[in-house]
Amino acid sequence: MDALSSLPLVLYGGAAVILAIGIFYGWRNYQRCPHCRRVVPRVYRGWLRCRGCGRQYRRGLRFD
Ligand SMILES: [Zn+2]
Repeated sequence: MDALSSLPLVLYGGAAVILAIGIFYGWRNYQRCPHCRRVVPRVYRGWLRCRGCGRQYRRGLRFD
């Protein structure tokens, strides 16, 4: 009975861990625009143009 009732908790825990890892790696591909704070793709080299405010941004700003 105890094993059966705790099984869903294990599944939820595993799903939560997988979700956390997915979010962690997904977050690394994004940063915030320094002008409008919109979430934008992370720049690895050079510059990109923000879709929100149309201004250019570059890497170096952490997602926070
Ligand atoms: Zn912007």
